Amino acid sequence: MQKEIILIKNGELALKGLNRATFEDVLIKNIRKRIKPLGDFEYRKEQSTVSVIPVSEAVDMDEVSERVGRVFGIARYSRALQVQKDMDEIKKNAPAYLENQLMFAKTFKVEAKRSDKKFPLTSPEISAEVGGAILSAFPHLKVDVRNPEIVVTVEIREKFAFIRGNQLKGAGGLPTGTSGKATVLISGGIDSPVAAFMMAKRGLVLNAVHFASPPYTSPQSEDKVHRLLKKVASYSGNITLFTVGFTEIQEAIRDNCPEDMFTLIMRRFMMRIASSIAEKEDSKALITGESLGQVASQTLSAIACTDAAASMPVFRPLIGNDKDEIITVSRKIDTFDISIEPFEDCCTVFTPKHPKTKPTLQMLTEAEQNLDTDALLQRALENTKVTVVGF
Ligand code: ATP
Ligand code: MG
Repeated sequence: MQKEIILIKNGELALKGLNRATFEDVLIKNIRKRIKPLGDFEYRKEQSTVSVIPVSEAVDMDEVSERVGRVFGIARYSRALQVQKDMDEIKKNAPAYLENQLMFAKTFKVEAKRSDKKFPLTSPEISAEVGGAILSAFPHLKVDVRNPEIVVTVEIREKFAFIRGNQLKGAGGLPTGTSGKATVLISGGIDSPVAAFMMAKRGLVLNAVHFASPPYTSPQSEDKVHRLLKKVASYSGNITLFTVGFTEIQEAIRDNCPEDMFTLIMRRFMMRIASSIAEKEDSKALITGESLGQVASQTLSAIACTDAAASMPVFRPLIGNDKDEIITVSRKIDTFDISIEPFEDCCTVFTPKHPKTKPTLQMLTEAEQNLDTDALLQRALENTKVTVVGF
C-alpha cells in the first residue's frame, strides 16, 4: 500500500562511538514518545536503517517530520514514499511525490539501489527510466550527476520500493537520556533557555529550577518561564520544573548585607538551593546561561564565587558566546520572542547601583554571616512548587 514513511539511516545517527544498539534503542524510544500522540506507528530496524511507518489512517506526516526533526541523536533523515515494486508505479509517483523539491530546482539525478536482486531492471536502468519520467514532468530540469541540487533515490527492497528526495537536517546531538540528568537554572531571559537547549542536545534529561519573588515578580513571569521551557521540551522531552519562593531570601539579603554584594549573595543562594534539589532528583550537574563578562555578576571573580556555592559541576555552555550568537540560537528554537516579553525577574529586583566586580569568597562569606543561611535554605526548599512541563 502506498504511504509516506520516515527513514533514518545509520550513517545519519550522530553518534559513532558508543554502543550502537543501546543508542538506537534509546533513540527509537524517544521518537516513539514524541510522535505517539499523532497516531500508531510501526518501527522497523533493518541493517542500516530505522523506518518509522504510520499504521493508523490519515497521520499528519508534516507534523511527524517536524517532531522527528527535533529529536536529538539524528543528524539527517528523510521522508520517503513507499510504493509497489512496479516500474509504472515508481515512474508515476516519483515526480508527483517530489514535486515541491523538483519544481524549484535546476538540476537533479536519480540514484537507484536494489537490495532485491530479482527485480527485472538493473540499477542503471531504473535510474534512467525514473530520470526520464521526471524530465518529462519537469522539462526545465537538467541531469547533473556530479553536483545535483536534488538527489532522487529509488530503493527496491524486499516488499516495497521507496522514493525519496533530499535529506532533511535533524537536530543533531545525542539521544536524550544517554548522558544522565542535569538541572537548569531558568530565568525568563534570553540566555538560560538557550543554555538548557544546548546541554539537552548533549543527551541530558533536564529538570529546571526557577526562583520567583512574589509580589516583586508577577504570575506572568512564572507563566513566561513555563512557555520557555515548553519550547525547550519540544526538543528534550518533559521537564520537571521546581519553582522556589525566593522572596524571604531576597529581603533578608537586602536588610542584612552590603548593597554592592546583593546580587552575588543571591546567586550563591540560588546555587545552594538548586544543588539540593538536583541531589534529590539524581541530577548530577547544574546549567546556567552565564557568559563571561556579560554583566557584573558574570566576571571571572564573580563566577568563581558563585561556583563555590554549588555542590556539583556547573555547566555554562554560553560562557564563550556573544549576545548575538546566543540570540541566533534563541530564534532557531523559538524562545526569543517569549524571552523579550517585559516581565520582572527576581534578578532585577533589589539590584545594586554599583555591584562589586572583583569580589572574593572571603568578602562574601563574611557578609553572609549576617544571615541564618540554613534556616533560609530550609524554608525556601519547603516553599517549592513542582510542575511538569510537557513537550
Ligand atoms: P538570562 O538571560 O538567562 O536571564 P542573564 O544574562 O540575564 O541570563 P543573570 O540574570 O545574571 O543573567 O543570570 C545568570 C543566570 O542565572 C541565568 O542564565 C540563569 O541560569 C540563572 N538565573 C537568573 N535568574 C534566575 C531565576 N529567577 N531563576 C532561576 N535561575 C536564574
Ligand atoms: Mg536574567
